[in-house]
Amino acid sequence: AGRGTYLGLDFGTSGARAIVIDDSEEVLHSEKVDYAASGLDQEEAARSTSVWEGALFSLLGNIPSGLASSLRAICIDGTSSTSFLVDRETWSIESRPLLYNFAAEASVVERVKAIAPEGNITCSPTSTLSKLFTWLYEDSLDVEAGNLLLLHQADWLSSLLLQNPDRRGVSDYNNALKLGYDPQEKDYPQWMKSQAWRSVLPAAVVAPSTPLGVVSDKISDTFRIPRECKVAAGTTDSIAAFLAAGASEPGEAVTSLGSTLAIKVLSTKRVDNLEHGIYSHKLWGDLWLAGGASNTGGAVIRKYFPDDQVEELTKSMDTSAPTGLAYYPLLKAGERFPVSDAKLEPKLNPRPSEDSVFLQGILEGIADIEKRGFELLHKEGCSTLTRVMTCGGGSKNDKWTEMRRQRLKVPVETAAEVEAAFGSARLARRSD
Ligand code: ADP
Repeated sequence: AGRGTYLGLDFGTSGARAIVIDDSEEVLHSEKVDYAASGLDQEEAARSTSVWEGALFSLLGNIPSGLASSLRAICIDGTSSTSFLVDRETWSIESRPLLYNFAAEASVVERVKAIAPEGNITCSPTSTLSKLFTWLYEDSLDVEAGNLLLLHQADWLSSLLLQNPDRRGVSDYNNALKLGYDPQEKDYPQWMKSQAWRSVLPAAVVAPSTPLGVVSDKISDTFRIPRECKVAAGTTDSIAAFLAAGASEPGEAVTSLGSTLAIKVLSTKRVDNLEHGIYSHKLWGDLWLAGGASNTGGAVIRKYFPDDQVEELTKSMDTSAPTGLAYYPLLKAGERFPVSDAKLEPKLNPRPSEDSVFLQGILEGIADIEKRGFELLHKEGCSTLTRVMTCGGGSKNDKWTEMRRQRLKVPVETAAEVEAAFGSARLARRSD
């Protein structure tokens, strides 16, 4: 057999991207389509299943024929907890799609809390179960009738590609987590299984990258993709982005230094801590992805300095001379991870007269929080930290990287790849 190619498709918040890689993970093709290109207004386009479908087929159609003809597997990620109901016979869309950031009414969330264990992941207003209850109690859809099936965005898009109808509607551990699925038990918990609406839940939930089947004859013919090209179970966009960064072994981590600070570590042990908002996704085998998110991050930097000034001020910093300012940078009071205190006040005083010292203090403060975050994850049982990849706006700041290296005492690198579609392409390759 000749060289194989693998397609990753990312359905993000503003558009969809396709990336094709080869066996050595070199990117051979990359294309993004914006949902707004459909002509609908941006918000409407982002929640339209036909816009997603159009983006999928447009991306497939634009893959150079030499690469399409050697595709061995395809994998799709979607935004977490973006979901809707379909008719399991006709496959027609039977509910309004509710996006990742849709928050259910308080009265609906109360209904979830009435049956779920306290603090369960499903008790959040944006959980998939809160969305299901929105269709049930707000939209009065008959989710107990047996004909309806809940699908996540990625499940549905993968299903559009599959030949075998029996393999359509399969979900993955990562997308199903916020629905209430327990990847450790590989089942829904009893409190869900005893409900009259249980028939609406995806019956099969598998590890991301599990081969679901091969592409349909129609997809194969239309896009000149080989008949034996697999469709692999997908994941969420944030996990795909994590996988893009290059972590693959327990102890390897990715820090996202964007507007907020988020850290994720690969671990052989599942860790969950409600108080700190720590939870774990299952990948495959005994590999888990544990993470937490702080309210600190680049948004605090941007409140004081525009990006170009940050770059300029950074030049004069001496990382071997810490400021000792011991800041806790926050935009407003309140923190959950690594400190759980809804009233925690930002600490950004005293402000030195020199801007570069003030900025260095902020960067050090965020780096201290990152360190505490990794320490907390380790204390909770996570595999020992070995390496940190970095993505987000702060990852290009080498002095900051040095400050973080001093604290974390492991190699800290910039992530080579950040596109979620690349992470999904990796999953496609893994399925082969
Ligand atoms: P978002 O989470 O909004 O996607 P980005 O990943 O685009 O954020 O990162 C933006 C953040 O990066 C901003 O808050 C900004 O302050 C920060 N940032 C930009 N340039 C630098 C730099 N050179 N050093 C440190 N932080 C930076």
